[in-house]
Amino acid sequence: MNDIKVAVLGSDGVGKSALIVRFLTRRFIGEYASSSECIYRKRMSIDGRQLNLELYDPCSQPCEGKSTLNEQIHWADGFVVIYDISDRSSFLTAKAIVHLIRELHLGGTKRDTDSVIFLVGNKQDLCHMREVDREEGQRLASEGRCQFYELSAAEHYQEVVLMFSKMVRNASLG
Ligand code: GDP
Repeated sequence: MNDIKVAVLGSDGVGKSALIVRFLTRRFIGEYASSSECIYRKRMSIDGRQLNLELYDPCSQPCEGKSTLNEQIHWADGFVVIYDISDRSSFLTAKAIVHLIRELHLGGTKRDTDSVIFLVGNKQDLCHMREVDREEGQRLASEGRCQFYELSAAEHYQEVVLMFSKMVRNASLG
């Protein structure tokens, strides 16, 4: 059975845990107390194939030896890079992460593909407080050859599931 490793990256507070928990349990957890457990595992069937998904959430803590962003990048087959559309500085962090992934992971031994980085603008329900235009997100996505999503862990369950399922499919092919 294939093991698929996906790292969920981004600044603190952008909603990494909220998105993962929403995907895995359907529930939106307002305040999620990150534990030291930051690799989540799920068995999935994609196109009739059984896959073991490992989702890595840094939880701001060193975890299973992958304490640095570089180590997390080397570990993963696919990346979901998240920013909060109502927080400009989180977008700048996402930009730096996308560039680092391109440099470290895809410039290295693993195959360079366009489909294994997803850039996600989360908290779309807070668009009245928007600090990052959708077009800026799309521009960064095309610069970094990422697929782009704007969504809300709070309000868009179906989109969250579609996004993660697509990532798993892409990462399993990469
Ligand atoms: P992490 O540090 O990136 O894992 O972020 P968390 O998942 O802990 O979320 C940080 C805060 O943002 C929490 O209070 C969440 O409830 C909130 N949050 C996460 N996603 C959304 C969203 O889509 N909309 C809104 N309004 N709040 C969200």
